Amino acid sequence: MRFSANRLYIEAYEKCPNCGVLLYDNPGARASWVIQNGKTYCSQWCVTWEADRAARRASAPTS
Ligand SMILES: [Zn+2]
Repeated sequence: MRFSANRLYIEAYEKCPNCGVLLYDNPGARASWVIQNGKTYCSQWCVTWEADRAARRASAPTS
């Protein structure tokens, strides 16, 4: 096993924060990735979905 700063960066961040798909496992899909707020999403769909979820949380009662 090889450790490098770059490898750790990839494993820590190259994962869609919405659906959790491992982006580095599928570099052919790179064209559809969307970088938003410093995070890399697998697609625009996930960016939109997470934004919608945040909006729902913001408007929902906390109880
Ligand atoms: Zn995703």
